[in-house]
Amino acid sequence: MEPSQIFLTDEEFEALFSAEIARLIRNLNEVSQQRCRECGGKCCREVGCRLYSPAFKGCPIYEIRPRECRYHFCNQLFVQAPLDKEQLELLMRPITEFTRGNREEIARMFPSFPTFPPGEEGLASLGIREAVVQVVQAFEQGELSEETARALLRNICRRY
Ligand code: SF4
Ligand code: SF4
Repeated sequence: MEPSQIFLTDEEFEALFSAEIARLIRNLNEVSQQRCRECGGKCCREVGCRLYSPAFKGCPIYEIRPRECRYHFCNQLFVQAPLDKEQLELLMRPITEFTRGNREEIARMFPSFPTFPPGEEGLASLGIREAVVQVVQAFEQGELSEETARALLRNICRRY
């Protein structure tokens, strides 16, 4: 699998998931900003993301984060930004496809499922685990600035 299938730009995400879903997720992101900053990325830590470090001010590859991350909002965010029934159904549409077992649609929407792409196994399968870990460690040890570390991680993930 190519990293470009996993690490998506906003435009690529929108092309896959539709403009309506992308807009809804942008709105939820706006609501989440303050809350996620205060929380410090509890979900990213718990899910075992190897790109995560509490020393970063947020996701280091935010611009190209995988769809699994774009799609994740914890319950406290849903409470803060209550969605109406129509919006909820729209958001759940790709997940509904999952449960219906539409294999083609699943493979198209979530090509790495059930592996979490920025986790240990996901990065290893893309052949970039060591490179990612080295950059995160160098940043945590003060050898790289945050800006440089972020740029390097984006390069490794997408090979811009
Ligand atoms: S989505 Fe929820 S758990 Fe994750 S960083 Fe934001 S507030 Fe924290
Ligand atoms: S890649 Fe995903 S799990 Fe990792 S820090 Fe970014 S948003 Fe969190």
